[in-house]
Amino acid sequence: MFIGVGSNLGDRRNHINKALAGVRQHIDESARMSRLYETEPRIDEDQPAFLNAVIEATTDLPARALLGRMLELERSLGRQRDDGRPKGPRIIDLDLLAYDQDLINEVGLTVPHPAIADRGFVLRPWAELAPLFLVAGLQSTVQALLAQCPDTGWIRPVTKRTGHKVAALGAVLA
Ligand code: AMP
Repeated sequence: MFIGVGSNLGDRRNHINKALAGVRQHIDESARMSRLYETEPRIDEDQPAFLNAVIEATTDLPARALLGRMLELERSLGRQRDDGRPKGPRIIDLDLLAYDQDLINEVGLTVPHPAIADRGFVLRPWAELAPLFLVAGLQSTVQALLAQCPDTGWIRPVTKRTGHKVAALGAVLA
């Protein structure tokens, strides 16, 4: 299954790394994550830029129990919900994007996540991890959904600035 993660408050990279560590501790120790992408806020646009990534993991947990662990993880990382601003700033957000080929439509749990096809900030990191994964219900691969995605918000991969690069830049400037 695949989990979308996002953060746009405080030390965003640290929050996402902690979310990955939490998934590895409580869900699947072999979980792997895409690169981080900095992305333009969508829908509620007047807020800081997000960092987004997608995590791939395997689990025996049923989807509902998995969602419970994800929500616990959000709470443990300090997520507070602002009911007046559901798409507003957040320390961490975890969305269950897809659970194998299951189609789930229950109160409080819709899988695949309903907004996938419209969200470049989900599809771009997801396509890096699993371009050929077939999204149930949409009958399209992640890479095909990305190619057709109408989202025009900017998205850029975040590269780690290493001490070496900083030193090299210092040498150029000197
Ligand atoms: P948000 O964190 O604002 O994205 O909303 C989380 C709420 O959406 C949770 O309380 C879930 O009950 C509900 N929800 C429904 N489907 C999903 C899904 N596929 N992934 C995550 N949350 C979901």
